[in-house]
Amino acid sequence: MANSFDYTTPAIIPTLDLNDGRAIPQLGLGIYAMKGEEGVDAIESGIDNGYTLLDTAVNYENEREVGQAIVNTGAPREDLFVTSKIPGRHHGFDEAIASTEESLARLGLDYLDLHLIHWPNPSVGKYVDTWRGLIELRERGLVKSIGVSNFTEAMLTELIDATGVTPAVNQVELHPYFPQADLIAFHRSIGVQTESWSPLYRDQGLFDETPIAEAAAAHDVTPAQVVLRWHIEVGSIPIPKSANFERQRYNADVFEFSLTPAEVAAISGLERGRMKDRDPLTHEEM
Ligand code: NDP
Repeated sequence: MANSFDYTTPAIIPTLDLNDGRAIPQLGLGIYAMKGEEGVDAIESGIDNGYTLLDTAVNYENEREVGQAIVNTGAPREDLFVTSKIPGRHHGFDEAIASTEESLARLGLDYLDLHLIHWPNPSVGKYVDTWRGLIELRERGLVKSIGVSNFTEAMLTELIDATGVTPAVNQVELHPYFPQADLIAFHRSIGVQTESWSPLYRDQGLFDETPIAEAAAAHDVTPAQVVLRWHIEVGSIPIPKSANFERQRYNADVFEFSLTPAEVAAISGLERGRMKDRDPLTHEEM
């Protein structure tokens, strides 16, 4: 299975329920760094491979590429789950609304399925106002579901206390080296779905780790499939980025095998911390 590409049909990706009555695919396509014609081709190939959740951001500077790929594939809009993110420089109520209108214009879409606050930027002190902007955008129908990214437990609590609206999703750094079990448990307790960014640790050595290699051999799958299945087992939604047609297809094929509790525990035991210094209390992005 790992050595010969034998897929003739797109992946079928199950969904999970969101706290607003909608559903989200259980695995999506990371779109970071997919730019220009090559980027359009890579996103198109992702859609052809069965990905419906497309994870872009204003700061990836590729919302136009996502829109073009959607047009090129002819995929029905209602079959897709397009996510974007509000950058730090657009924090604030009015700014969030203007930013989202610009995102939609670049994407060529009438609405986003999910829109996130990309980073909390606590020193700026505007994430609650930005959240109020997202609530307004949802009321106007420009965004179907609203969420955040890189928020801590205390920040989530602050948003909920201030507005009464719980984010549908918190997208955070999460992989076997940084499993964030406590945060996932907190999310579950308040009805927030977890999304994992850099779920494959950007292919920087994770796949050689013994518990991953052993599980790959035991289930006759690739190490990347083991890692992505681990995300599913721990209750998070991975959004692996691949620009390669075959890797995209393999990455999406993680719903027909499962890991044993012992395998999950061994992989979670690889915990050692974040990839870089991206602590949301101190790391800010504009
Ligand atoms: P990933 O962990 O998804 O790793 C991507 C890298 O792994 C690429 O180099 C890719 O190469 C390679 N790769 C993918 N599949 C395989 C495979 N099967 N075998 C070997 N190598 C593979 O990293 P990202 O940082 O891109 O994270 C995913 C997404 O998360 C981003 O694209 C973005 O959408 C989001 N993100 C969000 C952040 C936030 O602050 N909210 C921060 C960072 C990311 P190739 O393309 O050649 O296959």
